Amino acid sequence: MKILVINCGSSSCKFQLFETSTGEVLAKGNAERIGIDGKLTYKANGKEDFISTEAMPDHKVAVKMILAALVDKDHGVLSDISEIKAVGHRVLHGGKYYSESVIVNDDVKKVIRDCFPLGPLHNPANLTGIEACESVLPEGTPQVAVFDTAFHMTMPPKAYTYALPYELTEKYSIRRYGFHGTSHRYVSRRAADFLGKKYEDIKIITCHLGNGSSFAAVDHGKCVDTSMGLTPLAGICMGTRCGDIDPAIVPFLMKNENLTPDEIDTLMNKKSGVEGLSGVSSDFRDLDKASKEGNERATLALEMFEYQARKIIGAYAAAMGGVDVIVFTAGIGENTDYIRAAACEGLGFMGVEIDPAKNNGVRTEAVISSDNSKVTVAIIPTNEELAIAQETEELVK
Ligand code: AMP
Repeated sequence: MKILVINCGSSSCKFQLFETSTGEVLAKGNAERIGIDGKLTYKANGKEDFISTEAMPDHKVAVKMILAALVDKDHGVLSDISEIKAVGHRVLHGGKYYSESVIVNDDVKKVIRDCFPLGPLHNPANLTGIEACESVLPEGTPQVAVFDTAFHMTMPPKAYTYALPYELTEKYSIRRYGFHGTSHRYVSRRAADFLGKKYEDIKIITCHLGNGSSFAAVDHGKCVDTSMGLTPLAGICMGTRCGDIDPAIVPFLMKNENLTPDEIDTLMNKKSGVEGLSGVSSDFRDLDKASKEGNERATLALEMFEYQARKIIGAYAAAMGGVDVIVFTAGIGENTDYIRAAACEGLGFMGVEIDPAKNNGVRTEAVISSDNSKVTVAIIPTNEELAIAQETEELVK
């Protein structure tokens, strides 16, 4: 089945067209600078890449241009737009309402709209993308919303509630929601398949380590805890996000640095994390290089990242009363053997033993724990777009 996957930002629209029977990406690209000037980059199997700088005043025009490229006689991969059987949309926030992906109708759009305050940068853009596709694709083409938060909705109240005045948590729907859910679901299921284990029989800790990093405790197929919170700022320190800090630091800095709410928000989201700490970069390749050259702050940033990852792995093993499988994924999880090794260092007491010969330099799907390790540690590359396409197909079938 041909499924188009759309990930809309406020001024961009990334897309991938999948043939789900094979998992093949037939075409992909990005419409950027929507509402500014417009730039469409497009790549398709066996065709020449192309870039268009035609004006893109809004998302509807951007989607029209993407669809035109997909059926173009030179670059296209479809003979008719009706070959697209459904569109899967990445949607950041489904609030507490959705624990699964859903076919979009008016009620779903209302929920996405109601969650604007919880995902102010993403949800409005996600809804715009859905409405643009509805208005441009043949009537009746199903649109599916795949929420970043959905996988975590199985968490129990003790894991998702914050100890704030209860009336306020209710009034503003303040709770831990968690993010990267599509990735955590995909890699945890894939890990069970890959290892020949039954998903519903095991305890898995998934470590999605990328520019944004999050962890999930998946107990017998259900997420029971995750490290991101009301927003994707919570958890371990990340590329530019501070992660968990003493909440009293917020009013302290606001008072002493005379910062507005927006300014402190930017400071914590964009100027902190390993970049803010090291003064070098948010990219672990740059940090590794700087650390090897003797930059002490880069070394500290790496050590903090590793230490915080290890603490969460230990905490989630405690939360589930054990762990059978630990999964590493995303840019850092898939590519940096030394972070994987350090995040598991000292966890021998709970049966985790990495085999350096299996871990070093490996970037593909693989078991990296030793034959004696009680806990299996694996690399499972994530593929959020393919996961969205598969979930979309399951729903529309
Ligand atoms: P993601 O958000 O999953 O795309 O991950 C992006 C991050 O992964 C980058 O900022 C890097 O820190 C890290 N990364 C990606 N590729 C590599 C690599 N080959 N070696 C080390 N780190 C990498």
